[in-house]
Amino acid sequence: MNDRSAEPEPLAAAQTFAGYAPAPESTSIVTLADRYDLWIGGEWRPPSEGRWFPTVNPASGEPIAEIAEGSAPDIDAAVAAARAAFDGPWAATSPSQRSRILFRIARLLQERAREFAVLESLDGGKPIRESRDVDVPLAAAHFFYHAGWADKLDWAFGGGVHARPVGVVGQIIPWNFPLLMAAWKLAPALAAGNTVVLKPAETTSLTALLLVEVLREAGLPAGVVNIVTGGGDAGAALAAHPGVDKIAFTGSTEVGRSIRRATAATGARLTLELGGKSAHVIYDDAPLDQAVEGAVQGIWFNQGHVCCAGSRLLVQESIADAFTERLVARMQRLRVGDPLDKNTDIGAINSGAQLARITELCEIAESEGARRVQTTAALPDRGWFFPPTIFTGVDTSHRIAVEEVFGPVLAVMTFRTPQEAIAKANSTPYGLAAGVWTSDGARILWTAERLRAGVVWANTYNQFDPASPFGGMRASGFGREGGRQGLDAYVNLEAAS
Ligand code: NAD
Repeated sequence: MNDRSAEPEPLAAAQTFAGYAPAPESTSIVTLADRYDLWIGGEWRPPSEGRWFPTVNPASGEPIAEIAEGSAPDIDAAVAAARAAFDGPWAATSPSQRSRILFRIARLLQERAREFAVLESLDGGKPIRESRDVDVPLAAAHFFYHAGWADKLDWAFGGGVHARPVGVVGQIIPWNFPLLMAAWKLAPALAAGNTVVLKPAETTSLTALLLVEVLREAGLPAGVVNIVTGGGDAGAALAAHPGVDKIAFTGSTEVGRSIRRATAATGARLTLELGGKSAHVIYDDAPLDQAVEGAVQGIWFNQGHVCCAGSRLLVQESIADAFTERLVARMQRLRVGDPLDKNTDIGAINSGAQLARITELCEIAESEGARRVQTTAALPDRGWFFPPTIFTGVDTSHRIAVEEVFGPVLAVMTFRTPQEAIAKANSTPYGLAAGVWTSDGARILWTAERLRAGVVWANTYNQFDPASPFGGMRASGFGREGGRQGLDAYVNLEAAS
């Protein structure tokens, strides 16, 4: 295979895409305020401690707006507003009215899709192709799907029960799919009649704040959704708040553990969607070219900032060289650059801190004996970028095989027998997702039932649908989002009299 780790050579001229005409999406559709306040009780309020912080375009490193830094008193105010709305206007809103409001949110998201997509790429660094074709349509799809459930909840749980809302829900989300994670959280909570305090990630608050306009236009009563931006302190205050009935958290396993401790003290219900180190198993009877595309989609979608990224590729030994050669060739054709360019495959790394972590883990992998292969086409000279990278010669004891990189870095390992594939696939503490490629249907079932993962994709990867529950096990958390199962966390079931 083409191992260029010893002395990286520039790609051949034909492979550098020299002369590829840029096709940047215009940003004129987005109107940015200089400064954003907190959205509490149906009004914009300055943060109680009077502090704002810059949100930065990761493709340039330049600030694009200031975001309010919420703190404990703001969380108190937001929880109080959510409680008042829960007992007042939202309780008086019938299930079918809720359904109509959710449907309107979905339609308004579709109407303003381009604006949301451009803002998402500007603030988070993901390629416009992905925010346009994945994040925003899927966010709308989650509201459409849950609009359908809002007036059918009693039937969702098998009859003989009433599904009651849990109350005030605290929702804390990460930066990798900012709008989509907000939709995954808000849509089921609202469908079931709960009110919400949402805490976006500090580097990517803008699309949640733009969503306020959509929620208002859709007719959502004041106080039903409150948005408190800020850092980990604001999230911690929300997680520990005694007035919150349920916490839904998506983020790192480390923070998830601290939230579990906090909710143990309050008794709030909890769901955790945490990190992953997902195995992607390629058997020797897999259709190679399709499986290569699956591996590409598995690790390089959204720069690898994906909780369920197929970051550990397990290839059957007899095809390992041929497969890796094709994968390296395909990797060399990925275009890294301006997230707003419609040609871009790999955009910017979300923050300087994340780039430093990716860089460090790659250096550790080399020091432990893995071989680095990466594209050498020039990266943009400003902003935070990292080339698509493959490590070969990886052993299950290497840190690159165990720890979540959360970047465009793939660890390739080999196996001889299906049993060995399962043993290697299950050799991390995580259990979020996995993939299997084979032409043998029975082998798909054999493999899937042995993989310790919440989601297993067969002959595809990174497929999401609001009707399909998503979630992990072990260090990847518990609870499901999407599907009927995703509603469980947002209802209390009472026997129908
Ligand atoms: P993170 O845990 O650092 O932060 C997530 C959110 O928690 C942010 O809003 C942050 O401000 C907040 N937070 C930080 N410290 C907190 C504290 N002590 N108490 C309460 N809230 C706190 O994670 P991240 O770096 O933003 O996101 C990346 C991680 O998220 C990765 O591990 C990834 O795998 C995971 N993730 C999981 C899923 C899933 O569905 N399982 C989806 C997306 C991302």
